[in-house]
Formats: sequence, C-alpha cells, structure tokens
Amino acid sequence: MKITPLIGLEVHVELETKSKMFCGCPADHFGKAPNTQTCPVCLGLPGALPVPNQKAIESCIKIGLALNCSVNRLSKFDRKQYFYPDLPKGYQISQYDQPFCSVGFLNLDSGKKIGIERVHQEEDTGKLQHTVLNGEKVTLVDFNRSGVPLVEIVSMPDMTSSAEAKEYLKKIHEIIRAIGVSNADMEKGQMRLEPTVNVCIENETGIYYTPLVEIKNINSFNFAVQAIEFEIKRQVQEFEKSGIEKTATNKTTRGYDSVKKTTFLQRTKEEAKDYRYFPEPDIPPFIIEEDFVERIRKEIPLLPDQEIFSLEKLGVEKKDAKILISTQNRLAIQIVHDYSRDDRIDSKKLASLIVNGKLNPAQDVLVQYRNLTKIGITDTTQLTQIVQNIIDGNPSIVAEYKKGKTNVVGFFIGQAMKETKGAANPKTLSDVVTELLNR
Ligand code: ZN
Ligand code: MN
Repeated sequence: MKITPLIGLEVHVELETKSKMFCGCPADHFGKAPNTQTCPVCLGLPGALPVPNQKAIESCIKIGLALNCSVNRLSKFDRKQYFYPDLPKGYQISQYDQPFCSVGFLNLDSGKKIGIERVHQEEDTGKLQHTVLNGEKVTLVDFNRSGVPLVEIVSMPDMTSSAEAKEYLKKIHEIIRAIGVSNADMEKGQMRLEPTVNVCIENETGIYYTPLVEIKNINSFNFAVQAIEFEIKRQVQEFEKSGIEKTATNKTTRGYDSVKKTTFLQRTKEEAKDYRYFPEPDIPPFIIEEDFVERIRKEIPLLPDQEIFSLEKLGVEKKDAKILISTQNRLAIQIVHDYSRDDRIDSKKLASLIVNGKLNPAQDVLVQYRNLTKIGITDTTQLTQIVQNIIDGNPSIVAEYKKGKTNVVGFFIGQAMKETKGAANPKTLSDVVTELLNR
C-alpha cells in the first residue's frame, strides 16, 4: 500500500492599513476596547455604503505579484452569504470568480514548485467571546475587527507532507513581512492557516482518494503540522474501515484541538452554491491598468529567497543567510554586503559571527572582527627570543619583579606587543613572559 498525502493551504492575512476595507474606521483593532472602532458600514447597518480601500487593494496585488501571480485586468467584489453572529451584514464582501490575482507559484528549497491558485481580497469578521457574566453563560460580540482588510492566499494541493506544508507557510510568512503589507503576527491572529487534506491510497485493487477535509483557523505552524499529520493517519484508518472515497460533495470541515492533538468534525462543508455568491452591487467592477500594476511591482523589495541567494553569492553559508533573513536583521545584512568588498574580512566568517551573537553589527565591525579572528603569533620560540631581548635590556625592571612587584609583567607584555606590531597571541605571550621572568 502506498500513501500519498495531498495538502493544500488557505492562508488569511490581515493587512496593516490605516483604515478598514470599506470604511474609515481604524484597522488596528488588537487590544482596543470592544466596539469602539465601528461605524454604520462595518456594523452592517441598513443603507450604509462600502467604499473600497485602495491601499489594501495595492497590498493584495503586491502579495500576488510576490507569489508570481498574474493580476487580472478585470476584477470585482462579490457577496458571500452566510449567517454568523459576528457577521452583521449576513454576508462577507469577498471575491469569487474574478479575484485580483490568479495562478502563481512559490518555490520550496528542494526546487519543487507549489502552485498558487488565487490571491483575493475580502474583509474580516467581528469576534465572538464566549464567557460567563453574572453566573450566566453568554456570548459577547466585538465588531472592532469587522471589516478589517483580509487577503486570502489559496494554494493548489501540491504539498505531499506536513514538512512541505510548514516550509510553504514559513515562506509565505517571510514574504508577507518582507514586502511590508502586514507583520503577520500569528499570536495576534494576523495570519491564520487552513489546511485542506486528503490522501491518495494505492493498493493491489486500485487507486483511491479519501474525502477532502478542511481544517479551520489554525494559528501556529506547529499546530498546522500536527493537525495535518493527525488527519493523514485518521483518513487512512477511516478508509480502511469504511472504504468511503472522495466525491464532489463529501468535503467536511474539522477543527483542531491543540490540547488533545486531534481534529474533530465541525460541519459538512458548504459548497460554493450554498454561499449564493453574486456580484457586490454597491461596488463597481475594477479595471486594473498595467501601469498601476507596474508601479506596485516596483515597490516590491528583494524577496527572502533572493536575499538569501545574494548572501550565498558572497560566500555566506545558507543556514546563516536564512537566519539573517528570517530574523529580518536588516543592519547585519547590510553590513555583510558592505564588507564583502573588504579583503580583510571573510563574509562567511562575518555572517557566522553575527548569527552566533559574537559580533555586534552596530559597533565597530572591523575591530571586533579582528579581535575575534586573531590567532596571532603562537610560535613560542619566536616569542621567547623577543621577550628575552626585552628582559636583557631592562635589568632594573626585572629586579623589581624579583622583589615582588608582579604588575611589571604588563610592561614586558606591552613591549613585546610593540615589537610584534600587535601580532602576538596575547595568551601565549603572557605565558612566555611569566615563564622567563620566573627563571
Ligand atoms: Zn467602520
Ligand atoms: Mn476567506
């Protein structure tokens, strides 16, 4: 029996714009007093009209371009209808058949290309808080997050292991941060992960695909890995028991319990038709001009993989380059590039010293580098010769030493350092001086 997991990922990213997607309320909602950043638009009051946020759309297109997508010349918003208490309008403004960006890819380190199906723009929902108030179980709702710009990145089911899924997610995370559209802080829910998993099973009797499962709203890379691994095992066992195969309609949605490390059934998945998508009548369609796209493309800095490659070209080891890029150590990256033209400094060594916390890129790099890499003269015969000459030339100071004035050792070390133009290894030199004075 051969088992091949098929994993796709939906990633939601909250954009860090000043205002929300369709109104002027502040988009920065984290930690704010509940329901203080709302207005008729994001509360979904009757008659309120949405006005799209251009900056958010630019960020969405920027993400698409960074993921090698094409930008659709014609695009529009659609209404996705569903009922939930944190969705006051009864629908989410999203994009259905004409997203801003389609068909791109992301390269894993192995060279494998993971397809990107689409990158579209939508709005976030409010937040429910289940709690106990005056001894009564209640659910509170906070609309500060309602209408915050959200970008959804949908991959093809091209990943075949949880390790590939993790690498994909980390790369998406780094790209989002590098292009400056969001901090993508997972703990604040700025980046939320939804793996879709099924398994291809090949045995003596044929090839079978297990039903698709979408795992909702995961907020850490490791939880995503655990959830995917649990699902793969569960689906294989389930298939062995029931023999149920994937159909067009039997996709289900599961949650992940990070304590029990298991997934659990939430609901049988809605199909697109259940959402009754239709074009948002309050926002006219967009015609995206080529020069608008080119302007956004020019704003994209070197992407993490390109930066890693440029450091590798200077001789920096890949693992060190990855650390410098993933920790966004801009100063260190700059320093490594700047000193790559300096013959006195080896870029590989310099990067490794910084990564290992031995060299502070904010201080004098050359001095630190020299001190850290200096081996100096350790040849005791050569140093003995030099020190002996100094001792012979300064009998009175030797006499002081013999009387117990041991701090004159420093004088001899200093003189010998001068003689060697600072090239002596300090430890070896100090040993030689002490030995000769004690003779
Ligand atoms: Zn508002
Ligand atoms: Mn979505």
